[in-house]
Amino acid sequence: MCASIQDLWDYHIHSKRCGHAVGKLQEYVQQAIKIGLQEIGLSDHFPMFFLPKEANAEQFAMPRDQFAEYLEECRILQSKYSDKIQIKIASEVDYYPDPHVLSQLYSELKKYESKLDYLIGSIHIIKIDDEIPFPVDSPDIMEKFQKFGEETIFSEYYKNLIKMVKTGVFQIVGHCDLPKKIRNIFW
Ligand SMILES: [Zn+2]
Ligand SMILES: [Zn+2]
Repeated sequence: MCASIQDLWDYHIHSKRCGHAVGKLQEYVQQAIKIGLQEIGLSDHFPMFFLPKEANAEQFAMPRDQFAEYLEECRILQSKYSDKIQIKIASEVDYYPDPHVLSQLYSELKKYESKLDYLIGSIHIIKIDDEIPFPVDSPDIMEKFQKFGEETIFSEYYKNLIKMVKTGVFQIVGHCDLPKKIRNIFW
């Protein structure tokens, strides 16, 4: 039996705030209401300041000082549209298995804990041997595939993904196979 649209949710929504989509959060809420969704989760990317500097990842999310403002915008939308749709407030957070990186992340998350309904955990940046950490979904990933081999990249990605799940910090896995996002365009 097919689920009707009313039985569906979308818990992975980005807006122009984090640079991973276009349009304002409100437009996503209005579209969700229009198509009849009962519940959605706003989940712009968490600021990436805590990731290794060499990975140059900070540009892929909102600046650190805008996260509180993002949560406030979500809260306003949640109450404004409460009679039409259930809105959960969330964030997609990078996991990178380095103790120093994680301690910075966890102390930042602590500040917002009470305002977040769930966290999406995602791996975007990996590190192979002593090389510079790199994003597995960047356009130059093809060079990395040639340099390190597919198996090495996928194994590192999945090794980190398993560690991330085991932390118990995240309620949802963002994507299970990100290295193939760009790879599939070429293969
Ligand atoms: Zn995402
Ligand atoms: Zn992602």
